[in-house]
Amino acid sequence: MTAKIPVTVAYGDGIGPEIMNACLRIIEASGAPLEWETIEIGEQVYLRGNSAGIEPSAWESLRRTKVFYKAPITTPQGGGFKSLNVTTRKTLGLYANVRPCVSYHPFVDTKHPKMNLVIIRENEEDLYAGIEHRQTDEVYQCLKLITRPGCEKIVRYAFEYARANKRQKVTAFTKDNIMKMTDGLFHKVFDEIAAEYPDIQNEHWIVDIGAAKMADTPEAFDVIVLPNLYGDILSDVAAQIAGSVGLAGSANIGTHAAMFEAIHGSAPRRAGQNLANPSGLLLGGVMMLVHLGLADEAERVHNAWLKTIEDGIHTYDIYEEGVSREKVGTREFADAVIARMGKEPETLAPARYAKGKAAMPAAYIPSEVTAKKETVGVDVFLHWKERDPNQLGALLEPLAVDGLKLVMISNRGQKVYPGGLPETFCVDHWRCRFMSTTEGAPVSHAQIIRLLGRVTDAGLEFIKIENLCTFDGEPGFSLGQGQ
Ligand code: NAD
Repeated sequence: MTAKIPVTVAYGDGIGPEIMNACLRIIEASGAPLEWETIEIGEQVYLRGNSAGIEPSAWESLRRTKVFYKAPITTPQGGGFKSLNVTTRKTLGLYANVRPCVSYHPFVDTKHPKMNLVIIRENEEDLYAGIEHRQTDEVYQCLKLITRPGCEKIVRYAFEYARANKRQKVTAFTKDNIMKMTDGLFHKVFDEIAAEYPDIQNEHWIVDIGAAKMADTPEAFDVIVLPNLYGDILSDVAAQIAGSVGLAGSANIGTHAAMFEAIHGSAPRRAGQNLANPSGLLLGGVMMLVHLGLADEAERVHNAWLKTIEDGIHTYDIYEEGVSREKVGTREFADAVIARMGKEPETLAPARYAKGKAAMPAAYIPSEVTAKKETVGVDVFLHWKERDPNQLGALLEPLAVDGLKLVMISNRGQKVYPGGLPETFCVDHWRCRFMSTTEGAPVSHAQIIRLLGRVTDAGLEFIKIENLCTFDGEPGFSLGQGQ
């Protein structure tokens, strides 16, 4: 007899325990050789004073099994509670969030009967680095961090996923017409890696029009790879327009571990009433079986589920008069899927998974990027309450000595000095750019420190600085509007 594969399971909060029970019963009925190790996460752990919602001992189980099957949890209201999902993804390095969004027409109502796409969302960086600061009375900042390793890992994962799952095309969405450096890097890396996969089509859309196209004609897309924030928003849109957020499962994949879940939350109002639909968590479980190399069991569960949906056995959230045959509760739905184990759908396409162990993604080897870096200036950010940029310019010009000149002042990215217009509204947060008096010449850290001393002595408050560097002669900073 083959040894059972250990899987860490968390029952979560709200509808979590009911839907997890249903899913584990179904997966067990498929004959999958799994053994569950239960850990506690969520509301009770948070309320015991653990700000991450997970006990330190749970990490030991997760690091050993490397596979986490997780029901939704309730994050208590109020400050001080960290998102368990963000913590788990970052701690275990689960960099790829994979969400298939498929319609089940005509059995589940949708405006997009042919929809079948997969969203692959970067999970570890972007605005979700959570580095936020209040800098002045009026201004708050959130740092958007996009890294070359982050882009390379997620884009390569998307192309590998497409190849392994016989998908034809990978599309990237970015906003690189505005964020030329951060989103520009994501697009650049996408083009570089796409060239290594000539068997797979590739395309890039600006995220706003791409999102509109996806909401209107989702069948035009196959695999979509996106930075974290766009992926977070658009994966919910895609799941909803496919039929219901209650039907979508999700995988979070890393080099060392993986986590599988539903995309919906703990729906506390529905808890304890045997009402909730376990389908999203079950399809997350199917992705887990595929990940573990249990393709036969994954097919059995997925096809029994498709047959149940096709037979019109529906929970309240997808029940529709005239289409559905029977409205059932969570337990009865699970019983119906178990009763169909070994059957296949007749109208919907049956699920087929490639046999063999679906390994974790290969360990990432960062590409060697070392450029010649030179500091050529500095942006000094000031908290200054007056709203007249010419007055600030007059205060700063005398400080631009010691080989430095004041190049410009901008407010929220708009150049306001020299040559600003009185119509431009200014807040109390000013970016003041100093560069060498000799065009393109380096500026030393000592010059910058002396400048900050003069700024402070003049009674001005600097909040932060950003050094302006060139990399192999290319500016590593935006030039700012109006330049
Ligand atoms: P939710 O997804 O829990 O519920 C939204 C609505 O969708 C509910 O009113 C319910 O009617 C319906 N619904 C969701 N899942 C369903 C299912 N399986 N069957 C039937 N109906 C279903 O979103 P919410 O109400 O905004 O959040 C509730 C809690 O869940 C919050 O504490 C939130 O922080 C948490 N949450 C957790 C996760 C997670 O653990 N992965 C994800 C999202 C939200």
